[in-house]
Amino acid sequence: MPELPELEVTKDRLRLALAGRVVAGAVVRSPVALKTVTPPLEALAGRHIRSVSRLGKVICIACDCSPSTSSSPSATSPFPLSTSPLHLCIHLMLSGRFAFAPTRAPLNRLHALALHLDRDEDLRVIEDTTRHRLSVHLVTDPRQIDIVARLGPDPLGREFTLARFRQALGRRSRTLKRFLTDQSAIAGIGNCFSDEILFEARLSPFALSAGLDPEEVTRLHAATKNVLQDAIVHLRALDRLPERKDRTFLRVHDRLGQPCPTCSTPVKRVSYSESTLYYCPTCQTPGRELADRRFSKFLK
Ligand SMILES: [Zn+2]
Repeated sequence: MPELPELEVTKDRLRLALAGRVVAGAVVRSPVALKTVTPPLEALAGRHIRSVSRLGKVICIACDCSPSTSSSPSATSPFPLSTSPLHLCIHLMLSGRFAFAPTRAPLNRLHALALHLDRDEDLRVIEDTTRHRLSVHLVTDPRQIDIVARLGPDPLGREFTLARFRQALGRRSRTLKRFLTDQSAIAGIGNCFSDEILFEARLSPFALSAGLDPEEVTRLHAATKNVLQDAIVHLRALDRLPERKDRTFLRVHDRLGQPCPTCSTPVKRVSYSESTLYYCPTCQTPGRELADRRFSKFLK
């Protein structure tokens, strides 16, 4: 579920709560979630958390050697502390979320990972489903993770220029829905915010990326930034970690049959085998209803 706006606010909240704290240990409860073997999770013990960053939809917790233990073997870890920082990188996928809890609180089957901190507190990664999809990597450089290495420009970053956006649109012709959710084209956007961006830009989700005129390219570029930034402003005001229920500001996504906020036409949807998109047929597809794609095997 979480996309760039939720993860940006989550990153800021985690940075405030975690920077400077010491990791006491880490436990993975869902073995399929941990995608790396070396370095082992035990190597985190005794390290200070230096920073928290967001790379696309991946949250990275960077840990330095603890200054108090760097000159001698760690009292808590049997693994030699190297001087290179370690990055604990977490991709929440569809159903993951972070929560703080006392270390003594029991873990259950929904807890994928518990990062034990000082002051007897845990940062826990919870997956609210038994379909384990979230991933955890412990690496010395986040670019060692395939999904991070292939990320396109971040819409909040300086590299997200109109020129680069235009270039990415024209590189390969595909639907705008596909383009916006391709992490190697633009980082951080998923099914929900791509619907909202296309609504804001008044463009069909099935319009082809290489077929936009210059004015449409400019509109889509601006809509991408504006929709994400507005969502971040909304989620920041909550003063806590964002949740799915906080998406009260959406205009078309998950609003089937509700009036479009611009023209009052009921919002329509298109279903695929694994997902659903939402749009306004008046504002985005000049009155034309889009066909269902559930049985279309290869969506172009
Ligand atoms: Zn409308």
